[in-house]
Amino acid sequence: MELETKVLHNGYEKDIQGTMAVPIYQTTAYAFKSAEHASDLFSLQDLGNIYTRLNNPTTAVLEARLAEIEGGVAALATASGQAAIFNAVANLVEAGDNIIISDKIYGGSVTLFKHTMKRFGIEARVFTLDMPSSIEALIDGKTKAIFYESLSNPQIAVADIKAISDIASKHKIISICDNTVATPILVNPIAHGCDIVVHSCSKYISGQGLALGGAIIERDGLSAFFKGNPRYTHFTQADESYQGLIYTDLPVPPFTLRARLALLRDIGATPSPFNSWSLIQSLETLSLRMKKHSDNALEVARFLAAHPKVFNLNYPGLADNVYNKLSRQYFKDDLSSGLISFEVDTKEIAWKILDSAKLFSIVVNIGDSKSIITHPSSTTHQQIPLDEQIKIGITPGLIRLSIGLENAQDLIKDLKVALER
Ligand SMILES: *Cc1c(COP(=O)(O)O)cnc(C)c1O
Repeated sequence: MELETKVLHNGYEKDIQGTMAVPIYQTTAYAFKSAEHASDLFSLQDLGNIYTRLNNPTTAVLEARLAEIEGGVAALATASGQAAIFNAVANLVEAGDNIIISDKIYGGSVTLFKHTMKRFGIEARVFTLDMPSSIEALIDGKTKAIFYESLSNPQIAVADIKAISDIASKHKIISICDNTVATPILVNPIAHGCDIVVHSCSKYISGQGLALGGAIIERDGLSAFFKGNPRYTHFTQADESYQGLIYTDLPVPPFTLRARLALLRDIGATPSPFNSWSLIQSLETLSLRMKKHSDNALEVARFLAAHPKVFNLNYPGLADNVYNKLSRQYFKDDLSSGLISFEVDTKEIAWKILDSAKLFSIVVNIGDSKSIITHPSSTTHQQIPLDEQIKIGITPGLIRLSIGLENAQDLIKDLKVALER
Protein backbone atom coordinates (compact mmCIF):
# COMPACT_ATOMS: atom_id res chain seq x y z
CA MET A 1 0.00 0.00 0.00
CA GLU A 2 1.10 3.54 -0.70
CA LEU A 3 1.48 6.28 1.92
CA GLU A 4 -1.69 8.15 0.95
CA THR A 5 -3.71 4.98 1.63
CA LYS A 6 -1.96 4.11 4.89
CA VAL A 7 -2.55 7.52 6.49
CA LEU A 8 -6.29 7.01 6.04
CA HIS A 9 -6.65 3.47 7.34
CA ASN A 10 -3.78 2.22 9.48
CA GLY A 11 -4.12 1.60 13.19
CA TYR A 12 -7.89 1.99 13.47
CA GLU A 13 -10.47 -0.82 13.47
CA LYS A 14 -13.85 0.97 13.68
CA ASP A 15 -14.72 1.06 17.38
CA ILE A 16 -17.81 -0.58 18.90
CA GLN A 17 -20.05 2.27 17.71
CA GLY A 18 -18.71 1.93 14.17
CA THR A 19 -17.52 5.53 14.07
CA MET A 20 -15.80 6.39 10.78
CA ALA A 21 -13.77 9.17 12.38
CA VAL A 22 -11.27 8.08 15.02
CA PRO A 23 -12.90 8.92 18.40
CA ILE A 24 -11.22 11.23 20.90
CA TYR A 25 -10.68 9.09 23.98
CA GLN A 26 -10.66 12.05 26.34
CA THR A 27 -9.76 10.19 29.51
CA THR A 28 -7.01 10.25 32.12
CA ALA A 29 -7.26 6.64 33.30
CA TYR A 30 -8.70 3.21 32.39
CA ALA A 31 -10.79 0.77 34.42
CA PHE A 32 -9.20 -2.67 34.79
CA LYS A 33 -11.32 -5.82 34.37
CA SER A 34 -10.15 -7.36 37.63
CA ALA A 35 -7.46 -7.11 40.27
CA GLU A 36 -5.48 -9.71 38.36
CA HIS A 37 -5.81 -7.77 35.07
CA ALA A 38 -4.49 -4.65 36.83
CA SER A 39 -1.54 -6.61 38.17
CA ASP A 40 -0.81 -8.12 34.71
CA LEU A 41 -0.74 -4.66 33.15
CA PHE A 42 1.74 -3.39 35.72
CA SER A 43 4.00 -6.43 35.26
CA LEU A 44 3.75 -6.05 31.43
CA GLN A 45 2.22 -9.53 31.01
CA ASP A 46 -0.47 -7.53 29.23
CA LEU A 47 0.50 -4.38 27.25
CA GLY A 48 -2.85 -2.56 27.59
CA ASN A 49 -3.88 0.92 28.69
CA ILE A 50 -2.97 2.01 32.21
CA TYR A 51 -2.97 5.81 32.36
CA THR A 52 -2.92 8.46 29.62
CA ARG A 53 0.56 9.70 30.61
CA LEU A 54 1.73 6.32 29.16
CA ASN A 55 -0.85 5.38 26.53
CA ASN A 56 -4.15 6.43 25.01
CA PRO A 57 -6.23 4.77 22.23
CA THR A 58 -6.51 7.98 20.16
CA THR A 59 -2.79 8.65 20.43
CA ALA A 60 -2.16 4.98 19.56
CA VAL A 61 -3.82 5.48 16.14
CA LEU A 62 -1.57 8.48 15.46
CA GLU A 63 1.47 6.43 16.53
CA ALA A 64 0.55 3.49 14.31
CA ARG A 65 0.11 5.75 11.26
CA LEU A 66 3.34 7.67 11.84
CA ALA A 67 5.32 4.44 12.31
CA GLU A 68 3.83 3.03 9.12
CA ILE A 69 4.45 6.02 6.86
CA GLU A 70 8.04 6.42 8.12
CA GLY A 71 8.74 2.73 7.46
CA GLY A 72 9.36 2.10 11.17
CA VAL A 73 8.02 -0.58 13.52
CA ALA A 74 6.82 1.59 16.43
CA ALA A 75 6.27 5.23 17.30
CA LEU A 76 5.87 7.26 20.44
CA ALA A 77 3.88 10.49 20.24
CA THR A 78 4.97 13.37 22.47
CA ALA A 79 3.61 16.76 23.49
CA SER A 80 5.87 18.70 21.08
CA GLY A 81 8.82 18.31 18.75
CA GLN A 82 11.19 19.44 21.48
CA ALA A 83 9.80 16.74 23.79
CA ALA A 84 10.42 14.14 21.07
CA ILE A 85 14.03 15.27 20.56
CA PHE A 86 14.76 15.41 24.30
CA ASN A 87 13.23 11.98 24.94
CA ALA A 88 14.97 10.36 21.96
CA VAL A 89 18.38 11.53 23.16
CA ALA A 90 17.64 11.02 26.88
CA ASN A 91 16.76 7.41 26.04
CA LEU A 92 20.41 6.82 25.07
CA VAL A 93 22.62 8.96 27.34
CA GLU A 94 23.73 9.41 30.91
CA ALA A 95 26.00 12.01 32.54
CA GLY A 96 29.52 11.81 31.07
CA ASP A 97 28.33 10.76 27.58
CA ASN A 98 28.52 12.81 24.39
CA ILE A 99 26.41 13.18 21.28
CA ILE A 100 27.45 14.41 17.82
CA ILE A 101 25.15 17.03 16.30
CA SER A 102 24.95 18.67 12.88
CA ASP A 103 26.01 22.31 12.52
CA LYS A 104 22.73 22.99 10.69
CA ILE A 105 19.79 22.36 13.01
CA TYR A 106 16.79 24.10 14.56
CA GLY A 107 17.61 26.79 17.15
CA GLY A 108 15.58 25.06 19.88
CA SER A 109 17.65 21.91 19.40
CA VAL A 110 20.88 23.93 19.62
CA THR A 111 19.90 25.42 22.99
CA LEU A 112 18.61 22.03 24.22
CA PHE A 113 21.93 20.31 23.44
CA LYS A 114 24.42 23.09 24.11
CA HIS A 115 22.88 24.53 27.27
CA THR A 116 20.18 22.43 28.94
CA MET A 117 21.64 18.96 28.36
CA LYS A 118 25.15 20.28 29.01
CA ARG A 119 24.01 21.03 32.56
CA PHE A 120 23.08 17.33 32.85
CA GLY A 121 26.65 16.35 31.93
CA ILE A 122 26.00 15.55 28.24
CA GLU A 123 28.47 17.07 25.79
CA ALA A 124 27.37 18.07 22.26
CA ARG A 125 30.10 17.87 19.59
CA VAL A 126 29.35 19.60 16.29
CA PHE A 127 30.02 18.06 12.85
CA THR A 128 29.78 19.71 9.44
CA LEU A 129 26.58 18.51 7.76
CA ASP A 130 28.04 19.12 4.30
CA MET A 131 30.98 16.84 5.20
CA PRO A 132 29.64 13.67 6.88
CA SER A 133 33.22 12.31 7.19
CA SER A 134 33.78 15.02 9.84
CA ILE A 135 31.75 12.83 12.23
CA GLU A 136 34.43 10.14 12.59
CA ALA A 137 37.06 12.26 14.37
CA LEU A 138 34.48 13.20 17.04
CA ILE A 139 33.52 9.63 18.01
CA ASP A 140 34.79 8.01 21.19
CA GLY A 141 33.63 5.24 23.55
CA LYS A 142 31.16 7.62 25.22
CA THR A 143 29.43 8.70 22.00
CA LYS A 144 25.76 7.68 22.16
CA ALA A 145 24.00 9.42 19.27
CA ILE A 146 24.44 11.26 15.99
CA PHE A 147 21.74 13.90 15.47
CA TYR A 148 20.91 15.82 12.27
CA GLU A 149 17.99 17.13 10.19
CA SER A 150 17.12 15.68 6.76
CA LEU A 151 16.15 19.17 5.49
CA SER A 152 17.40 21.70 7.98
CA ASN A 153 15.44 24.57 9.46
CA PRO A 154 16.37 27.39 8.91
CA GLN A 155 19.40 26.70 6.66
CA ILE A 156 17.44 24.61 4.08
CA ALA A 157 20.36 22.19 3.71
CA VAL A 158 19.84 18.57 2.61
CA ALA A 159 21.64 15.84 4.56
CA ASP A 160 23.43 12.92 2.93
CA ILE A 161 21.39 10.46 5.00
CA LYS A 162 23.07 7.33 3.68
CA ALA A 163 26.60 8.63 4.30
CA ILE A 164 25.70 9.57 7.90
CA SER A 165 23.89 6.25 8.50
CA ASP A 166 26.87 4.29 7.19
CA ILE A 167 29.25 5.98 9.66
CA ALA A 168 26.79 5.48 12.54
CA SER A 169 26.34 1.84 11.66
CA LYS A 170 30.10 1.22 11.26
CA HIS A 171 30.64 2.45 14.86
CA LYS A 172 27.37 0.89 16.15
CA ILE A 173 26.01 4.28 17.22
CA ILE A 174 22.33 5.24 17.02
CA SER A 175 21.62 7.93 14.41
CA ILE A 176 18.63 10.22 14.94
CA CYS A 177 17.17 12.21 12.05
CA ASP A 178 14.78 15.13 12.59
CA ASN A 179 12.52 14.76 9.52
CA THR A 180 10.17 17.67 10.36
CA VAL A 181 10.65 19.84 7.28
CA ALA A 182 10.87 17.03 4.71
CA THR A 183 7.99 15.01 6.27
CA PRO A 184 7.59 11.22 5.74
CA ILE A 185 5.78 11.97 2.48
CA LEU A 186 8.95 13.32 0.83
CA VAL A 187 11.81 11.57 2.65
CA ASN A 188 12.06 8.31 4.63
CA PRO A 189 15.37 8.32 6.52
CA ILE A 190 14.85 4.75 7.79
CA ALA A 191 14.91 3.49 4.19
CA HIS A 192 18.46 4.90 3.95
CA GLY A 193 19.76 3.27 7.14
CA CYS A 194 18.71 5.74 9.85
CA ASP A 195 17.79 4.22 13.26
CA ILE A 196 15.44 6.76 14.84
CA VAL A 197 13.33 9.48 13.21
CA VAL A 198 11.94 12.39 15.23
CA HIS A 199 9.31 14.93 14.22
CA SER A 200 7.82 18.16 15.26
CA CYS A 201 4.24 17.38 14.20
CA SER A 202 3.45 21.05 14.88
CA LYS A 203 4.69 22.05 11.41
CA TYR A 204 3.68 20.31 8.14
CA ILE A 205 2.05 17.30 9.80
CA SER A 206 -0.42 19.56 11.62
CA GLY A 207 -0.31 21.76 8.55
CA GLN A 208 -2.62 24.52 9.66
CA GLY A 209 -0.77 25.70 12.73
CA LEU A 210 -3.41 24.03 14.93
CA ALA A 211 -1.71 21.68 17.34
CA LEU A 212 1.70 21.11 18.93
CA GLY A 213 2.96 17.56 18.78
CA GLY A 214 6.02 15.41 18.33
CA ALA A 215 6.97 11.84 17.54
CA ILE A 216 9.79 9.32 17.83
CA ILE A 217 9.84 6.47 15.28
CA GLU A 218 12.02 3.38 15.55
CA ARG A 219 13.36 1.17 12.75
CA ASP A 220 13.05 -2.60 12.83
CA GLY A 221 15.87 -4.61 14.37
CA LEU A 222 17.04 -2.48 17.29
CA SER A 223 16.85 -5.38 19.80
CA ALA A 224 19.52 -7.20 17.82
CA PHE A 225 21.48 -3.93 17.47
CA PHE A 226 21.53 -3.35 21.25
CA LYS A 227 22.45 -6.94 22.21
CA GLY A 228 26.18 -7.16 22.80
CA ASN A 229 26.64 -3.42 22.07
CA PRO A 230 28.68 -1.96 24.96
CA ARG A 231 27.35 1.57 24.36
CA TYR A 232 23.78 0.80 25.35
CA THR A 233 23.87 -1.68 28.25
CA HIS A 234 20.79 -0.06 29.82
CA PHE A 235 18.73 -1.77 27.12
CA THR A 236 20.18 -5.22 27.74
CA GLN A 237 20.61 -5.16 31.53
CA ALA A 238 17.96 -5.15 34.28
CA ASP A 239 16.13 -1.82 34.78
CA GLU A 240 15.92 -1.39 38.55
CA SER A 241 13.09 1.13 38.14
CA TYR A 242 11.00 -1.61 36.47
CA GLN A 243 11.42 -4.72 38.62
CA GLY A 244 14.50 -5.85 36.75
CA LEU A 245 12.95 -5.60 33.28
CA ILE A 246 15.32 -6.19 30.35
CA TYR A 247 13.99 -4.21 27.38
CA THR A 248 15.54 -6.36 24.67
CA ASP A 249 13.95 -9.49 26.18
CA LEU A 250 10.42 -8.42 25.29
CA PRO A 251 9.01 -9.14 21.81
CA VAL A 252 8.35 -5.44 21.13
CA PRO A 253 10.53 -2.62 19.71
CA PRO A 254 12.81 -1.71 22.65
CA PHE A 255 13.59 1.96 21.97
CA THR A 256 9.97 3.11 21.96
CA LEU A 257 9.12 0.77 24.83
CA ARG A 258 11.78 2.27 27.08
CA ALA A 259 10.95 5.84 26.03
CA ARG A 260 7.33 5.15 27.01
CA LEU A 261 7.80 3.10 30.17
CA ALA A 262 10.72 5.01 31.67
CA LEU A 263 10.68 8.50 30.14
CA LEU A 264 6.99 9.26 29.62
CA ARG A 265 6.40 7.74 33.05
CA ASP A 266 8.97 10.01 34.70
CA ILE A 267 8.93 13.16 32.56
CA GLY A 268 5.37 13.10 31.25
CA ALA A 269 5.66 15.11 28.01
CA THR A 270 2.60 13.28 26.66
CA PRO A 271 0.24 14.67 23.97
CA SER A 272 -3.36 15.44 24.87
CA PRO A 273 -5.86 13.06 23.19
CA PHE A 274 -7.40 16.09 21.49
CA ASN A 275 -4.10 17.12 19.87
CA SER A 276 -3.50 13.53 18.75
CA TRP A 277 -6.96 13.53 17.15
CA SER A 278 -6.27 16.85 15.44
CA LEU A 279 -3.01 15.46 14.03
CA ILE A 280 -4.82 12.34 12.76
CA GLN A 281 -7.15 14.63 10.74
CA SER A 282 -4.13 16.48 9.38
CA LEU A 283 -2.25 13.32 8.38
CA GLU A 284 -5.14 12.42 6.05
CA THR A 285 -4.23 15.28 3.72
CA LEU A 286 -0.45 15.42 4.28
CA SER A 287 0.46 13.87 0.91
CA LEU A 288 -1.81 16.30 -1.00
CA ARG A 289 -0.48 19.26 0.94
CA MET A 290 3.22 18.40 0.57
CA LYS A 291 2.84 18.23 -3.20
CA LYS A 292 1.13 21.64 -3.29
CA HIS A 293 3.61 23.24 -0.82
CA SER A 294 6.49 21.95 -2.95
CA ASP A 295 4.98 22.91 -6.33
CA ASN A 296 4.15 26.40 -5.04
CA ALA A 297 7.62 26.85 -3.53
CA LEU A 298 9.28 25.86 -6.81
CA GLU A 299 7.24 28.45 -8.73
CA VAL A 300 7.95 31.19 -6.19
CA ALA A 301 11.66 30.24 -6.09
CA ARG A 302 11.88 30.49 -9.91
CA PHE A 303 10.31 33.96 -9.80
CA LEU A 304 12.63 35.15 -7.01
CA ALA A 305 15.75 33.72 -8.68
CA ALA A 306 15.11 35.93 -11.70
CA HIS A 307 14.44 39.12 -9.70
CA PRO A 308 17.24 41.75 -9.83
CA LYS A 309 16.93 42.68 -6.12
CA VAL A 310 17.29 39.07 -4.95
CA PHE A 311 20.55 37.15 -4.44
CA ASN A 312 21.71 33.92 -2.76
CA LEU A 313 18.33 32.32 -3.35
CA ASN A 314 18.22 28.94 -1.60
CA TYR A 315 15.72 26.30 -2.68
CA PRO A 316 16.95 22.70 -3.13
CA GLY A 317 14.41 22.10 -5.90
CA LEU A 318 16.22 24.47 -8.28
CA ALA A 319 18.69 22.76 -10.63
CA ASP A 320 21.57 25.13 -9.79
CA ASN A 321 21.18 24.80 -6.01
CA VAL A 322 24.10 23.23 -4.10
CA TYR A 323 21.72 20.70 -2.52
CA ASN A 324 19.87 19.79 -5.74
CA LYS A 325 21.81 16.56 -6.22
CA LEU A 326 21.05 15.34 -2.67
CA SER A 327 17.48 16.54 -3.03
CA ARG A 328 17.06 14.44 -6.17
CA GLN A 329 18.64 11.47 -4.39
CA TYR A 330 16.47 11.53 -1.26
CA PHE A 331 13.24 13.44 -2.01
CA LYS A 332 10.34 11.66 -3.72
CA ASP A 333 9.12 12.94 -7.10
CA ASP A 334 11.59 15.86 -7.00
CA LEU A 335 9.41 17.65 -4.45
CA SER A 336 11.51 19.75 -2.05
CA SER A 337 9.02 21.02 0.59
CA GLY A 338 8.06 24.64 1.20
CA LEU A 339 11.00 26.58 2.66
CA ILE A 340 12.86 29.23 0.66
CA SER A 341 15.45 31.76 1.78
CA PHE A 342 17.02 34.68 -0.09
CA GLU A 343 18.94 37.86 0.53
CA VAL A 344 18.41 41.49 -0.31
CA ASP A 345 20.99 44.26 0.19
CA THR A 346 20.10 45.60 3.62
CA LYS A 347 17.99 45.05 6.72
CA GLU A 348 15.93 48.12 5.75
CA ILE A 349 15.00 46.62 2.37
CA ALA A 350 14.21 43.28 4.07
CA TRP A 351 11.95 44.93 6.64
CA LYS A 352 10.18 46.90 3.90
CA ILE A 353 9.42 43.62 2.08
CA LEU A 354 8.06 42.06 5.30
CA ASP A 355 5.87 45.07 5.98
CA SER A 356 4.62 45.35 2.36
CA ALA A 357 3.73 41.71 1.65
CA LYS A 358 0.01 41.26 2.25
CA LEU A 359 -0.48 37.50 1.80
CA PHE A 360 2.57 36.61 3.91
CA SER A 361 2.15 36.87 7.69
CA ILE A 362 5.15 37.86 9.83
CA VAL A 363 5.35 34.72 11.97
CA VAL A 364 8.23 32.61 13.28
CA ASN A 365 6.71 29.28 12.32
CA ILE A 366 6.84 27.04 9.26
CA GLY A 367 4.57 24.52 7.59
CA ASP A 368 1.30 26.44 7.91
CA SER A 369 -1.28 26.38 5.10
CA LYS A 370 -0.94 30.19 5.11
CA SER A 371 2.34 31.63 3.77
CA ILE A 372 4.82 33.03 6.30
CA ILE A 373 7.69 35.53 6.02
CA THR A 374 10.47 35.86 8.62
CA HIS A 375 13.50 38.08 9.17
CA PRO A 376 15.78 35.70 11.14
CA SER A 377 18.45 38.27 12.08
CA SER A 378 16.05 40.40 14.13
CA THR A 379 13.88 37.55 15.50
CA THR A 380 14.90 33.88 15.74
CA HIS A 381 18.62 34.69 15.77
CA GLN A 382 18.47 38.07 17.55
CA GLN A 383 20.31 36.78 20.66
CA ILE A 384 23.38 35.86 18.56
CA PRO A 385 25.88 38.75 18.08
CA LEU A 386 25.77 40.24 14.53
CA ASP A 387 29.29 39.12 13.51
CA GLU A 388 28.47 35.52 14.59
CA GLN A 389 25.15 35.69 12.73
CA ILE A 390 26.99 36.54 9.52
CA LYS A 391 29.40 33.61 10.02
CA ILE A 392 26.45 31.17 10.03
CA GLY A 393 24.81 32.83 7.04
CA ILE A 394 22.20 34.91 8.91
CA THR A 395 22.92 38.21 7.15
CA PRO A 396 20.94 41.42 7.82
CA GLY A 397 19.25 41.08 4.40
CA LEU A 398 18.21 37.42 4.82
CA ILE A 399 14.51 36.59 4.46
CA ARG A 400 12.93 33.19 4.99
CA LEU A 401 9.63 32.14 3.44
CA SER A 402 7.40 29.21 4.33
CA ILE A 403 5.23 28.82 1.27
CA GLY A 404 1.61 27.91 1.99
CA LEU A 405 -1.23 26.46 -0.04
CA GLU A 406 -2.44 29.68 -1.71
CA ASN A 407 -2.46 30.08 -5.49
CA ALA A 408 1.22 30.41 -6.52
CA GLN A 409 0.54 33.31 -8.91
CA ASP A 410 -1.12 35.26 -6.08
CA LEU A 411 1.97 34.75 -3.91
CA ILE A 412 4.25 35.86 -6.76
CA LYS A 413 2.19 39.00 -7.42
CA ASP A 414 2.29 39.85 -3.71
CA LEU A 415 6.08 39.43 -3.52
CA LYS A 416 6.56 41.37 -6.75
CA VAL A 417 4.75 44.40 -5.34
CA ALA A 418 6.59 44.09 -2.00
CA LEU A 419 10.00 43.88 -3.74
CA GLU A 420 9.30 46.90 -5.90
CA ARG A 421 8.19 49.23 -3.12
C1 LIG B 1 9.78 23.49 15.13
C2 LIG B 1 10.84 22.49 15.06
C3 LIG B 1 11.16 21.72 16.20
C4 LIG B 1 10.47 21.93 17.52
O1 LIG B 1 9.16 21.49 17.48
P1 LIG B 1 8.00 22.00 18.47
O2 LIG B 1 6.85 21.15 18.10
O3 LIG B 1 7.81 23.46 18.22
O4 LIG B 1 8.49 21.73 19.87
C5 LIG B 1 12.16 20.79 16.06
N1 LIG B 1 12.82 20.60 14.89
C6 LIG B 1 12.53 21.32 13.80
C7 LIG B 1 13.28 21.06 12.53
C8 LIG B 1 11.55 22.29 13.84
O5 LIG B 1 11.28 23.02 12.73
